[in-house]
Amino acid sequence: MIDGVLDPGEDRPRHLVAFLFDGTNANVLYAMAAAGEAPNVARLIEMGTALGHGAMAALPTVTLANHTSILTGAFPGHHGILHNAWYDRARGEQVITNSPATWPWAMNNVSSGTTSLHDAIHRTWPDAFTASVNEPCDIGADYSTFGFFRDGEIPDIPATPEGLPHVTERFVRPSKDYSWSSIVDHMGADQAISLWDGSYRGQSYPRPRFMWVNLILTDAAMHEGGPHSEVAAAAVRDTDARLGDVLGAIERSGAFDDCAFAILADHGMEETNPQVTGDWGVPLREAGLRFRDEGYGFLYLGVQ
Ligand SMILES: [Zn+2]
Repeated sequence: MIDGVLDPGEDRPRHLVAFLFDGTNANVLYAMAAAGEAPNVARLIEMGTALGHGAMAALPTVTLANHTSILTGAFPGHHGILHNAWYDRARGEQVITNSPATWPWAMNNVSSGTTSLHDAIHRTWPDAFTASVNEPCDIGADYSTFGFFRDGEIPDIPATPEGLPHVTERFVRPSKDYSWSSIVDHMGADQAISLWDGSYRGQSYPRPRFMWVNLILTDAAMHEGGPHSEVAAAAVRDTDARLGDVLGAIERSGAFDDCAFAILADHGMEETNPQVTGDWGVPLREAGLRFRDEGYGFLYLGVQ
């Protein structure tokens, strides 16, 4: 139960809008905001506050374990999304939650009784409308991008990001992940903007009391080039511009002054020494152990 974070006695804010910049190194984001390269992030920092040393992630510091922790207020051992992929000994099968093919159904794996910030909002304000954009952890949300996929009403997905706004073309061709993530984030921003404008795909929606927007390009780019690379900086600029478009839609709606905003990451990203390579598997196999290595570093001994 995370109702305690809500303050229902106050009139304002009337809305909470949160953006998750996946995998973003906090130092890189702050430096770019200070240098004028992420003006929309800088605007929100100037209006509020920033945790100077970033935030602590839950272990393991991977995407879906931490998205689910942020949205449920529970650590992975409690909410049950143990990793992006793991091995279920009881069922004798691999569980993959964090992949485009499994995102819509990832929350089938949460522990029973797990509730989210969407549920907390509904318990406090039963009529509130909440929206979950591009977020696999969409428990309790009224609107969810992945709800369309579960219902078989998959939105049209552009074949290429070329020509879409806020896409650094230079990285689209050399990087398949940059290309795909730009498409996903464009579609997410489009949904967030449309919801604040009042309708998406021909259906009307009320203003969200709580909107959560997950943006994945930063993670793809920081994996691709490391957090201090040009591709990472391009991803922060593109993502900041998408954030700016959503803020613009909220301003158009007249709700901006009644909104609280949050930007956060699920985990950071650090350079590693490219000379340091290797694999757990070699010494473990040499020692004659039977094991599985799931999600890089989750070792299960005695099974294969
Ligand atoms: Zn992540």
